[in-house]
Amino acid sequence: MYQDKFQVPYIKSFLISDPRYHYYPNFSDEETEAKKDLRVIFNIVNFSKTKSLYRDGMAPMVKSTSRPKWQRLPPKNVYYYRCPDHRKNYVMSFAFCFDREEDTYQFAYCYPYTYTRFQHYLDSLQKRNMDYFFREQLGQSVQQRQLDLLTITSPDNLREGAEQKVVFITGRVHPGETPSSFVCQGIIDFLISQHPIARVLREHLVFKIAPMLNPDGVYLGNYRCSLMGFDLNRHWLDPSPWAHPTLHGVKQLIIQMYNDPKTSLEFYIDIHAHSTMMNGFMYGNIFEDEERFQRQAVFPKLLCQNAEDFSYSSTSFNRDAVKAGTGRRFLGGLLDHSSYCYTLEVSFYSYIIGGTTAAVPYTEEAYMKLGRNVARTFLDYYRLNPMVEKVAIPMPRLRKGKPPSYKHPILRGPASNHPNGKGDKKSSVNHKDPSNSF
Ligand SMILES: [Zn+2]
Repeated sequence: MYQDKFQVPYIKSFLISDPRYHYYPNFSDEETEAKKDLRVIFNIVNFSKTKSLYRDGMAPMVKSTSRPKWQRLPPKNVYYYRCPDHRKNYVMSFAFCFDREEDTYQFAYCYPYTYTRFQHYLDSLQKRNMDYFFREQLGQSVQQRQLDLLTITSPDNLREGAEQKVVFITGRVHPGETPSSFVCQGIIDFLISQHPIARVLREHLVFKIAPMLNPDGVYLGNYRCSLMGFDLNRHWLDPSPWAHPTLHGVKQLIIQMYNDPKTSLEFYIDIHAHSTMMNGFMYGNIFEDEERFQRQAVFPKLLCQNAEDFSYSSTSFNRDAVKAGTGRRFLGGLLDHSSYCYTLEVSFYSYIIGGTTAAVPYTEEAYMKLGRNVARTFLDYYRLNPMVEKVAIPMPRLRKGKPPSYKHPILRGPASNHPNGKGDKKSSVNHKDPSNSF
């Protein structure tokens, strides 16, 4: 049926060896001899998760030479369904029309944020010679990429013998979770700005930020692992200097700060992206001490007041065995009662604003805004508001106008477009089922 309708000349499948870990989130289609109005159905195979934001309206992203801004494909052209030909793993199919012969097209799971982009960003900050921004190389990855550590604080706080209240932030331990980098960049951009809140924060706190904990994984396009196949966020208990050098470097630094009587490590926040949940939210730890447990809820509650996309109701506190070895769990056990450790998660797709049911897809700017709101929340937490002479938050300038769009063929169902012609008839894709969110 689809062949007839769209005259699909070939169907391209991507075979992925280990569905848990390897998924290349950004691929280009240069080898396609794109004829004008060439219609293609892509089948991306071997997804292992039953739940997926693809069922809530998420769609892959596309850009092309003449339309260089990433855009989401319309969700009506996207299907996520179980397939018996791939060990009952899931397949995501989407239809696309290559409408310009001379263009090169790229597709991605989410907005890409590469190692190279990150290095250029840090280079540009360094060139500004701000006396409250410091960049150092904390270590190197297995393939000798930089583990960057940023310190943002007023120079007074770095005087010999000065006492320091430290907020430690890390990102991209899971390399496919690109929203982590946009949130992190939002935090950094805000903290180095001339905004009155940023100035007060720099005077009172020392921000230590390692925005890219897994630079090899980011460079190689891994989804969850390091070069050597480790999920680094399960190795905090005993990171090896040769197998997990970036993690080892960060852990050494945190322990060194913990042992320094002049340093009070007050917050550790590790930024991730979530593939099945909406909104931003946090994971925290469970403590026997009820008062400590309550105090831990304060920061996410304040963040919820500052960020419309952050959900306190999705925030949870746990001690699951499967999460042992994560930065949040390990440091929550190590640090004393005055420290708080969180995982900050943000949806790969969208957020729902309170009182509505409509999902608003995240943009790069919306991810960065969440970062700015995380930074601002420290002002409320430390009750530094009276220190800000004039609280006037400049609104970001939003670009007006819609980018030029792509032509989108309509994909009506997954079954008949499978390369072997045998879709999963009993798959959970059921057009008559109103509970199905396609
Ligand atoms: Zn993650």
